[in-house]
Amino acid sequence: MRPVEVIEARRDRRGNTAEELEFIANQAAQIARSEHATMADYQLSAWLMAAYLNPLSKQETVDLTLAMARSGQRLDLSSVPKPWVDKHSTGGVGDKTTLVALPVLAACGAYLMKMSGRGLGITGGTIDKLASIPGFRSDLPLDQAIGQCREIGLALVSSGPQLAPADKELYRLRDVTGTVESLPLIASSILSKKLAGGAQFVVFDVKAGSGAFMKTPEAARELANWLVDIGNELGMKTMATVTDMSQPLGCAVGNALEVKEAGEVLCGKKGRFYDLVCALCGETLWACGVAESADLGEKLAKEALESGSALEKAKQWVSAQGGNPEVWEDHSLLSKPKIVRNVVSDRSGWVSEVNARIVGEEAVKLGAGRSRVEDEIDFSVGFEVLAEVGRRVQKGETLLKIFAKSESDADSAELNLRAAIKFSDDPVERIPVILG
Ligand code: URA
Repeated sequence: MRPVEVIEARRDRRGNTAEELEFIANQAAQIARSEHATMADYQLSAWLMAAYLNPLSKQETVDLTLAMARSGQRLDLSSVPKPWVDKHSTGGVGDKTTLVALPVLAACGAYLMKMSGRGLGITGGTIDKLASIPGFRSDLPLDQAIGQCREIGLALVSSGPQLAPADKELYRLRDVTGTVESLPLIASSILSKKLAGGAQFVVFDVKAGSGAFMKTPEAARELANWLVDIGNELGMKTMATVTDMSQPLGCAVGNALEVKEAGEVLCGKKGRFYDLVCALCGETLWACGVAESADLGEKLAKEALESGSALEKAKQWVSAQGGNPEVWEDHSLLSKPKIVRNVVSDRSGWVSEVNARIVGEEAVKLGAGRSRVEDEIDFSVGFEVLAEVGRRVQKGETLLKIFAKSESDADSAELNLRAAIKFSDDPVERIPVILG
């Protein structure tokens, strides 16, 4: 096949055949594996721009996703009891849902062999949050992780280049060619990894708001529809919920702080983050047949949290992957920053905005996230944001806590976070965490 003809077909809106899309995926995988490829990366980039301008149809997206999933290893979960479940978030600020949802779902009888990524930019990565637990290993060999999933119901490992290697190269090129924001390309990227990961049931948490990839609920709903349609077409049972990311999820933003907050929820703390976990787990338990409806699934999730069975599962999980299982209750096991600063409100009023994007950017500046892939993370730094949209705050009340490695870092974060939190003199409605 001649690369230029595949590019021209896309450019001229003639569409690409399944064979051409397989060719694209295979070429990308060969480049990712540093093997000789017929297509150069500049030709792949040209095809990606053509695909951005002339989007793939749903059938083409199915064909591309299948080819991308086939470009590498596909996990064999046949030794693991069913149902095989996965939960995927499109990423946000303070999004530690996986840390609680996985043990809740496993405690309710689902099996989760989860592959997660490291964080880049303002959206933190689950692998980094777990890495803040001393000793926790996410680099287990896949057969060991599958064995652990069979034994205790869950395992979480770092997604390596062996799964959907085509995505690794296509994503790298999209990132530097202005072609990330294409629904068919996003859907094929996410779903090829889910397909290769072997799950039967996948629930997507599609975030909407300033701290998310999709800025509006409408855009998030469109992505949700693509993920569900293409996922179902590929033989997975998929569901999607659009959730709020206009303000950070829960209080904690930053790796060790998020593990601490996840531990608090596992031990019974309620609030917006708890509501999200229970709703998502409810949907998931319904989707995979453990519960007869999402409401009954939510009831099961709440029972797992109240009875302590989810906490017990979380302890087994951390212990199996090399960490101290007491970390969920004993937060002194997590690293501590040099500076802890209380920021108090200089006025009374109703909180009308806590801009998630700014909070995320400030967390990265403190060292909680990466601006470049090679950056080192400081697990101890971040924020506890106590201000929440709709809450009445009195002058002098704590708005947030800053955890930093120096006073000057804390000064700069304080200045910018004060600007990120806005007030109204009139009551402001709370923003529901589930948008639909
Ligand atoms: N996450 C992915 O894995 N791929 C995308 O294209 C966007 C978000």
